[in-house]
Amino acid sequence: MTKLFEAENVSVRFGGLQALDGLSLEVEEGTIIGLIGPNGSGKTTFFNTVTGLCRTVGGRVLIDGENITGLQPRHIYQRGVSRTFQRSRLCLSLSVFDNVVIGRQNSLDLTLFGNLFRRRRFVESVRENHEQVHALLSTFSEPLAARIFDPLHRLNMIDRRRIEVCRALIANPRLLLLDEPSAGMTPDETHEFMGDILKVRSDHPRMSIIIIEHEMDVIQRVADHVVVLNFGKKVAEGTFDAVVANPWVQEAYLGT
Ligand code: ADP
Repeated sequence: MTKLFEAENVSVRFGGLQALDGLSLEVEEGTIIGLIGPNGSGKTTFFNTVTGLCRTVGGRVLIDGENITGLQPRHIYQRGVSRTFQRSRLCLSLSVFDNVVIGRQNSLDLTLFGNLFRRRRFVESVRENHEQVHALLSTFSEPLAARIFDPLHRLNMIDRRRIEVCRALIANPRLLLLDEPSAGMTPDETHEFMGDILKVRSDHPRMSIIIIEHEMDVIQRVADHVVVLNFGKKVAEGTFDAVVANPWVQEAYLGT
């Protein structure tokens, strides 16, 4: 197995609060990591650190062996790290298409001046974007792909979550970070959506995924490897079965 991503001894502090405390974590190519832990244990801070939104006070983050610690978020994105957020960042008044391509345009070093003199390239990129967005939507469902120009507010919750994932996938990431994608969904929707995530994985066999999730049955279904955080530290990791056998996890999650 090839190592894709590595966090080495990462620490993040907010004033007196140690949000991540020497966290180390490795991700092999093509695997799904389930990241679990109580509220406030540092899961989202970890995502924010990997994507360049939080500054570290120690440690390093590497993708494909390249140190990306402290780079600007868009430079990290350009190196193949995409994410979704716990709270939706979609624009309800824009179309599905616009919501997906916004992520991509943000990552490009485009200027108004440059675009004025590259109109043909601009038109071509719109056409390519359309084909790419349509193909991405089709991986979820053909009816969703047919709604490419619908305004987003007409879509239900699960389709909106799919659009967030499409936005993250438009740049062909090597590492996809999903921050509690099932939040606010019914159990049936969650089940359907996790089927989608497994399909995304089989369509992108070299991409790795880290998913933050509270529901243990979801973690059991999708994760190859589980990492448990508490107070910014890793308290357990391994296969789902190994992690649920851990005494700390038994007490915290299963109440035994
Ligand atoms: P989780 O995602 O596991 O619920 P977070 O990463 O959101 O946990 O938070 C970890 C800790 O860091 C919490 O105590 C939280 O209150 C604190 N925290 C997170 N972001 C900030 C911030 N921007 N400023 C101050 N404290 C923060």
